[in-house]
Amino acid sequence: MVQASPLDRQAILQRARGFCAPFRIGNGDGFHLDQVNPSETLHLDRHDKKAAEAVLAEGVALLADLQDRLYASNRYALLLIFQAMDAAGKDGTIKHVMSGVNPQGCQVFAFKAPSAVDLDHDYLWRANQCLPERGRIGIFNRSYYEETLVVRVHPELLARQCLPPELVSDDLWTQRFRDIRHYESYLARNGVVVRKFFLHLSRDEQKRRFLKRLEDPGKNWKFSASDIKERAHWNRYMDAYEEMIRHTASDAAPWFVVPADNKWFTRLVVAAAIIDTLDQLNLQYPVVSDSARDALAAAQQQLLAE
Ligand code: ATP
Ligand code: MG
Repeated sequence: MVQASPLDRQAILQRARGFCAPFRIGNGDGFHLDQVNPSETLHLDRHDKKAAEAVLAEGVALLADLQDRLYASNRYALLLIFQAMDAAGKDGTIKHVMSGVNPQGCQVFAFKAPSAVDLDHDYLWRANQCLPERGRIGIFNRSYYEETLVVRVHPELLARQCLPPELVSDDLWTQRFRDIRHYESYLARNGVVVRKFFLHLSRDEQKRRFLKRLEDPGKNWKFSASDIKERAHWNRYMDAYEEMIRHTASDAAPWFVVPADNKWFTRLVVAAAIIDTLDQLNLQYPVVSDSARDALAAAQQQLLAE
């Protein structure tokens, strides 16, 4: 891999900050989804994909270096949470952004409908077992946030959780938001850095992508009949997402509301946010102590004497 010179590195980091800062929500008070346009591309020409790909490539290379430092320094873990409507590009974004990193330092978990065993536990239980180890990057493709989204839009899913009846009240969602906020503060205080991405897709673009999946036999496998059913609840989902972001955005665990109508732009913003986050951790390779250095020199002598 070509290493960026210190000057290039500063320039890439600065560019990354410029791409992610406009979409970072660290305090959700007064947040409205319509504050972010799904087809936003900032100053980039939306037809100039080549330029965007070049920017992404330099970001991906820098990310590999930052991940190496994260692993070597073994202090923090990074948890990246992805939430979105179907066809917003979660899978593709994860694939492209993480393409340069060492697979050994990265763990991806996709959360589907809970199993019978999951339902017999509290809703954070299954996620808690999948948290990244120190030094690793963990990716949640969907997460415990589904508990404030799909479960809110479909009350029958809440009924399946068999909660004690006195706990099921109108306050339930506010309580879940509060519990999640506290859970994420707890993680932060234990060195797990949490960053959350909502890929913000427009309803029109989802329709275009669904139609493509239906027209193109090579993409048929990506389509599921349930996707259309969930689309019918679009407005209720948008309300749920908006409230979720309002109540759970914090400085310790900010949301990035990422425009998702142009996949190349989504990838750029997500890569930028990860780079910016890791850069701020000021990750250093462990310093070799004098005694360890002496031991290394002795080992070298021993090998040379063989
Ligand atoms: P994706 O839709 O994420 O690209 P997929 O199509 O491979 O992945 P699905 O079988 O659609 O996988 O599984 C995801 C489904 O699981 C979503 O509809 C999601 O709402 C649902 N799900 C995830 N977490 C929960 C939860 N806690 N409670 C109920 N349903 C959940
Ligand atoms: Mg699906």
